[in-house]
Amino acid sequence: MSTFYVQNFGCRATQADGAAIEQQFLDLGLQRAPDAAAAHWVILNTCAVTAQAEQDARAAIRRVRRGNESCKIVITGCYAQRAPAEVAALRGVSHIVGNSEKHALAELVLGRKCQDNSSLSGSFFPLASLQTGRAAEPSSEAVEIFVSDIFAHTRLLAAPVFDSGGARTRPNLKIQDGCSNRCSFCIIPSVRGRSRSLAYPDVLREINQLVGAGYREVVISGINLGRWGRDLAPGRQESGSTRKDQPAATDLAKLIRAILEHTSLEKLRVSSVEPMDWTDALVRLMAESPRIAKHVHVPLQSASDSILRAMRRRYRPWHYREKILNIRAAMPTAAIGADVMVGFPGESEADFDETRAMIEELPLTYLHVFTFSARPGTAAATLGNPLPAEVAGERSRILRDLGTRKKLVFMRSFIGRQLQAITLAARAEQSGGNWTEALSDNYLKVRLEGRQEANRWVEVSIGAVRNGYLSGQPVRP
Ligand code: SF4
Repeated sequence: MSTFYVQNFGCRATQADGAAIEQQFLDLGLQRAPDAAAAHWVILNTCAVTAQAEQDARAAIRRVRRGNESCKIVITGCYAQRAPAEVAALRGVSHIVGNSEKHALAELVLGRKCQDNSSLSGSFFPLASLQTGRAAEPSSEAVEIFVSDIFAHTRLLAAPVFDSGGARTRPNLKIQDGCSNRCSFCIIPSVRGRSRSLAYPDVLREINQLVGAGYREVVISGINLGRWGRDLAPGRQESGSTRKDQPAATDLAKLIRAILEHTSLEKLRVSSVEPMDWTDALVRLMAESPRIAKHVHVPLQSASDSILRAMRRRYRPWHYREKILNIRAAMPTAAIGADVMVGFPGESEADFDETRAMIEELPLTYLHVFTFSARPGTAAATLGNPLPAEVAGERSRILRDLGTRKKLVFMRSFIGRQLQAITLAARAEQSGGNWTEALSDNYLKVRLEGRQEANRWVEVSIGAVRNGYLSGQPVRP
């Protein structure tokens, strides 16, 4: 029996793609191997969001090849789409499948799909026809490359993703892919294509299946989740398998309302949404429904007007401030997270200070801090004026420290109060101590006294903050 192993790098969207790729191999009768060393086919589902992410993928190829001389190594994902010739030149690679062809990956590499299939015509590129992105020694092996124009691509590949470590309590459902924005630092639109949405009936069906399987929280996610449904609006419908049914809901707030009405899901969590897509309707809906987790994530990137303009972000610092204050007023206990980028070309000390000061001032409760990485093909890569690495590193450290302090203040504010939390499967079973790990509705890690059954919503009385956790006792009904 032929076996496969999929290793994912990068974001939740990549993990959702990886889950769908696993299903393709299973459907074709292959078995999942426990690790890369034991597999006949190793699929590395890569990320390209930073230079480091691509470096990690190259290191993984070398590692897999060292541990398994005979396996076929398939490179897919964003790095494969961005630089197929560069990847093909790496020793040990047998197949490259871009995001454009990932929906048929297993069939393609197993040779069960004709390359002259109309849906794939023109997608098989001989290596010689591709532009090499970097000087590299040619691989001695023949490499098959399946990459085509990502902007012609209308499919959305997704399967629910479960927590890592075997915990299967909070599946993540990707309902949107791609992005039609052009932030100047971002490689994602050119490797994932235009924004496209999982149709409304398909979203409901997926969630009802997860509820039927016993899940009590589902996280909906996307590359640009706030744009969900815009491509499904009347008059803008494209042909494609998920677009046959005209959806009743064509924006995220309406979709969420429909999920609440047409499923019995206990808790819906909404992942990152861009600032201007936090409409009053969406904020009000989240605030009003106890079935929606009080957790919002709003990318900031920078609070300097000139840097935001250079980033081609579609909001100004004052828009961001207003959105966060609205959200806090509507949801006083909500977790409010932000992505922040340091080291964008030309970011002065004053620009950075504006970012630091706004974060200090706003009721944000956690931060994800990134350092700018010039990506070939993006507008920002040509800007010049790079920041010295030590300056960017120091700014990153300052913001990470600030994020840690704000999170601690937020956590301490719940001592002596009650929070709702869901018990996490694997941790509850594996932890040696007499406690159970849980995640609160408002995204805080909780250690519950006693061994509790997994996948249950419990009311917790919070007693203290210890080592990054809230500790507490379940409230007896
Ligand atoms: S909104 Fe901007 S940063 Fe986010 S995926 Fe789209 S282009 Fe990239």
